[in-house]
Amino acid sequence: MSNLKIGWVGLGNMGNAMAANILKAGYELQVFNRSREKEKELVSAGAVSAAGLKELARDCDIVFTMLADDNAVKSVYEDRDGLLSGIDEGKLLIDMSTVAPATSVYLAGLCQSHAVSFLDAPVSGSVQPATEGTLIIMVGGESEDYSQALPLFEVLGKLSLHLGGHGAGSSAKVAINYLLAVQTQALAETVLFAQHNGIDKERMLQIVNEGACGNKMSQLKTPSIIKGLFPAAFALKYIVKDLKLARQAGLDAPLAAPVLETFSGAMQAGLGDEDLMAVVKYLDERK
Ligand code: NAP
Repeated sequence: MSNLKIGWVGLGNMGNAMAANILKAGYELQVFNRSREKEKELVSAGAVSAAGLKELARDCDIVFTMLADDNAVKSVYEDRDGLLSGIDEGKLLIDMSTVAPATSVYLAGLCQSHAVSFLDAPVSGSVQPATEGTLIIMVGGESEDYSQALPLFEVLGKLSLHLGGHGAGSSAKVAINYLLAVQTQALAETVLFAQHNGIDKERMLQIVNEGACGNKMSQLKTPSIIKGLFPAAFALKYIVKDLKLARQAGLDAPLAAPVLETFSGAMQAGLGDEDLMAVVKYLDERK
């Protein structure tokens, strides 16, 4: 571990767990979250609460952002007192949020105009892998910046892949989340169809999980489907966002429109802040 100073902006479900791993790995860490009370846990574990975004960027060598969406990231970078407002040359900013590939390219351009480096590095994996440091990290940007960030990616994930220039990480991320949406809806539909013909959901999930169609996702979501409780690990509103990002990035596949329509319907039905697996409730109720 080096004596690099690390900044972390965004302590939501994912960011909090990821920043905690940076701290545990022994790095000096400054944190900033819009709702400042969310910083308390990390501050009591040894992180420093930054005075503001500008100060955090000035004090740290590498700054991570893990924020809700494109607008949140843009405002944290661009606002009058945002990360870029007083930054010195030569710093490295790494955005790990899920945003449009075009937004990553835009942020890279902004950083270049301030003579700072940028990587888009969104992640695959939810809160449990974030906590365990076993995320998959998809990276776009310059090779030397990837090499500088690699020791930190090794703390946060089990695999990081440098996929190409700016935007390449975000392109891979919107693709994998399309698969996540399709699989989640297919799992929900399968369980409901079996139930319709008198097959208990617990038994049906056992059949899925023990067979070739089962996967880590189906195993992870099984307890919530059985209990009918869906506290957000990955909020449903974010899969709607990501499906829209995939569409913007050119996704025009036969399943894309119906899956977006289903999750948008579930969000309009008030399930946006529940886990994306809550789509099973929505599909059950609209039968
Ligand atoms: P979350 O729990 O909802 O946290 C969102 C974070 O963004 C919070 O820190 C929030 O601050 C901040 N934020 C929102 N709008 C903001 C704004 N306008 N200005 C400044 N800060 C703002 O989300 P999450 O689950 O950690 O996800 C974060 C990102 O990772 C999203 O892009 C998501 O798609 C992606 N992702 C999530 C998962 C997952 O399983 N959860 C997995 C992979 C990728 P406040 O606390 O003040 O609201």
